[in-house]
Order: sequence, then C-alpha cells, then structure tokens
Amino acid sequence: MSKEYYTTIGLEIHAELATESKMFCGCKNDPDETRPNVNVCPVCMAHPGTLPVPNKKAIESVIKVGLAVGANIADFTEFDRKNYFYPDIPKGYQISQYKFPIVSGGELAGVKITRVHLEEDTGTSKHDQGDYSLVDYNRAGVPLMELVTEPVIHSPEDAGKFGRELQLLLQYLGVSEANMEKGEMRVELNISVSDDRNKFGTKVEVKNINSFNAMMRAAKYETERMSKLLEEGRGAEIVQETRGWDEAKQKTFSQRAKEDSHDYRYFPDPDIPKFYLSKMFDIESLRAGLAELPSQKRVRYKDAFGIKDEDIESYINDHELGIYFEEVAKNLNSNKDAIKSASNYITSDLIGLRKKNPEFKFPRPHHLAELISMTADGLLSSRVAKDLLVELYDLNKSPKEIADERGLVQKNDEGALKEIIQKLIDVNPEIVATYKGGKENAIMSLVGKAIKETNGSANPQVVIKLLKELL
Ligand code: ADP
Ligand code: ZN
Ligand code: MG
Repeated sequence: MSKEYYTTIGLEIHAELATESKMFCGCKNDPDETRPNVNVCPVCMAHPGTLPVPNKKAIESVIKVGLAVGANIADFTEFDRKNYFYPDIPKGYQISQYKFPIVSGGELAGVKITRVHLEEDTGTSKHDQGDYSLVDYNRAGVPLMELVTEPVIHSPEDAGKFGRELQLLLQYLGVSEANMEKGEMRVELNISVSDDRNKFGTKVEVKNINSFNAMMRAAKYETERMSKLLEEGRGAEIVQETRGWDEAKQKTFSQRAKEDSHDYRYFPDPDIPKFYLSKMFDIESLRAGLAELPSQKRVRYKDAFGIKDEDIESYINDHELGIYFEEVAKNLNSNKDAIKSASNYITSDLIGLRKKNPEFKFPRPHHLAELISMTADGLLSSRVAKDLLVELYDLNKSPKEIADERGLVQKNDEGALKEIIQKLIDVNPEIVATYKGGKENAIMSLVGKAIKETNGSANPQVVIKLLKELL
C-alpha cells in the first residue's frame, strides 16, 4: 500500500450481572435455566399496570466496577426508556440509562473508559424453526451493564487485551461470570480506518462476536477491508453501518444502516424514581471493601515472590491455582529461591500432569513445600522429586517419610556410595576395560547402574567423582 493507514477502535461491552433476581422484578436471574419461559412474571412480561422496582444489588455492582477503574460515581442518576420494537422486548422499550449513567471516566489496561451504565437484557429468539420463531423471556429483564470505551485503541491485540482484562476484573469483583460462550459477556467492535493521523475515518460497528479471538480477527478483517477501499480511492463506499461477524466465513457482512440515538426517542422512565447514590450507598466503604484486583495482585506477586511474569499470569487467570501457589509459598517461609522453584513445579510439572489427566490431584500444599525444601537441601534428586509429585496426593504422607521408607534420600554420603561403586567396578570388568581403553563415555553406564542400585538416590555428580577416583 502506498499510504499509511491508522486504525481506531472503541468497544461497547455488555455483561450480565450475577444477581439473585432480575433488574426490575423478583424473578430469578438464572443463566443456566434451560426450560423456556419459567423465570417470568407480569412485570418482566410487561403486563399493563405493573411497575418496575430497581435491583439495588445491580446498582451496587456497577458502582464497584466504577470504583475499580478509578471512575467518577454519579451522585444523581436515572433510568430512561430506549424505544424500539422487537419481539424479544415485551414492553416495546428497554429500560436503560442515557444522560446520567452511574459511572463515567476511568481507565483499564491503558484504555480510557467513557461510561458504564445499567440496563435490562432482552429475551432470546429462535429463528430456526421453519415458518415461525420462538421467544424465551427467561433472560428478559436480567440486569445488564454496558461499558463504553473512548476511541483510543489502535490495534486488534490491544482491543483483545482490554476485553480480557475487563473479563478478569468482573470475575474478581464477583459481579459477573462474564463467560462469553454463554453470552454473559458480549462485545461490539467500533472501528474506523483513516489515511490522516489527525482525523477519524468513518466507523462501522461489528456485532455477533462471540470470543475475544473473533473480535481480533474481525478487527483485522475490517482494517484490511477499509484500508483497501481507501487505497483504491473508494473511500466513499465506507458507510456508517452495523456489520455482522460471520464466524464460518471469517468475514464481516453489512447488516443495516446505523440508527442514530434520536431514533430511539430516549426519555426518563416516569415509573422509576431518581436516585442520589450517595444517599443510598456508603461509597467509601464499598471502595474499601473491593476484592483484590488483578492489577494489584500482579504487583503483590512480583514484590512478595519475585516469580516470572508468565507464572504470575497463570495465577491471575486461574484464581484457584493462585491460591494453591500462595499456600505452598506460605509453607516455604519466604525463602524466595524455594518459592521460585515451587512456582516452576506448579506451572510446568503439575499443570502438565493435569493436562494429561484432568482428574489429577495436586499434592497438598505443605507436602509440596516439603518436597521442594528437600530438593533445595540436596536430600532428594529432582528426578526423584518429579516422580513423587505424581503419587503424593494419593499417598497423603510427608515426602520425608516416603523418602525414608523407600530409601530415596539422596546419598551424598561418600562412604556408603564408595562401597556400592567398588562392587560395580568389580562385577563389570568389560566396562572398566572399555573405559580404560580410552572410551570415556563408558563411565556413564556405571553411573546409571549406581543410580539404579540406590533407587535413584545417589547424586550423579558425586557418583562420577567417586568413579573417577576409584578407577
Ligand atoms: P454512536 O453515537 O454512533 O453510538 P458513540 O460516540 O456513542 O457513537 O461511540 C460508540 C463507540 O464507538 C464508542 O466505543 C466509541 O469509542 C467508538 N467510536 C466513536 N467514534 C469512533 C471512530 N471514529 N472509530 C472507532 N471507534 C469509534
Ligand atoms: Zn419477572
Ligand atoms: Mg452511542
């Protein structure tokens, strides 16, 4: 291409909040319900005369997200009606927020956030029935937060990074499961390409994205599509529109021209009271009570344990694994070298064993810690330690005890080893002859025999040294 092109991305991300009940009625909020239309009532089915009652827990969840990203928490907030017709919204409007979102500003993973507001989810439609469609209203009225970023992301990779970090954050805060496969988290990609660094291009919005990988591929696809049109002098063909992502074809396709916000005829919902959040919540104690955030955990792990970034990410992404590692570390009394070695055993050996066998149970933390201390002290060879890892959980015994019983404690004691080695020399005259004839490598077969003779407990370095002396 002859010119440089600049990509700009802004994301709109929805997440279903993990509350007990729906946003404006007492129906159960159960994403795992498989029977259609069981969690419904006159309120979420929009029967005339019913009135919505806002869910305080849902509002609190959005405030927590705002606090976690360093945003402003509104004092005054209200709900609006967003009017449009579709069979999956029984009221003919969605209750959302327009002018006064609960949260504005803030930043995550280097991306500025515009706002986070609260709304209700729609029902789900099934169009694959033949000449009719089915609608399930279990999801209608489930609390849904929407986070909007500023148009400040410039690569598909950074967009993916932001999405993953937000997903982690929501999970850490306990406000959403944020599982994309289950539709608990949904991403809309806004993207534009320009040949002028100081001007935005026309943006398109891409929907139907069901994973972060798909989002990154859609962003790449759109960057290429729009750059090519600009390159060919066909920039006018780039129109503001909504496109869909076709996972099978790995392509986007035009769906419809984009609505403007005035098409929705937003207005404040007269059935819902206005809120002064500072009167409803003790914001400072919510702030103080936030769970440890992924960003804070990264810093703590680095400072306290000095382990590799790669290991830290494993613990950030797998909360339980992180807790396990911390338990092991606790049993190693802040010995940093031993803790680093423990982290290696966990992220490579134990994870590897679990990959091979999903049923594999990790050793109890204090047993793993003891095993690692023993190798650090030269009492166990790493070979023996790795073998023991496999059965430590089932044996449920201290590694020291097991090693004593099986005679696995590494023999650094030269006296005892010398005897064994002398015997091996005596009964293997051919090997000795080969070695003395100049084939230095022949000694290794004697080393192997010595290690076998001691159930793997002989320290190979010591064996080599003694063999050379005795020969
Ligand atoms: P609209 O009025 O079309 O809904 P908004 O200004 O509300 O547009 O922005 C919606 C999303 O699109 C936000 O995430 C924003 O960052 C992003 N966005 C806005 N302009 C652009 C652009 N030129 N290129 C890429 N993303 C953009
Ligand atoms: Zn209901
Ligand atoms: Mg908008």
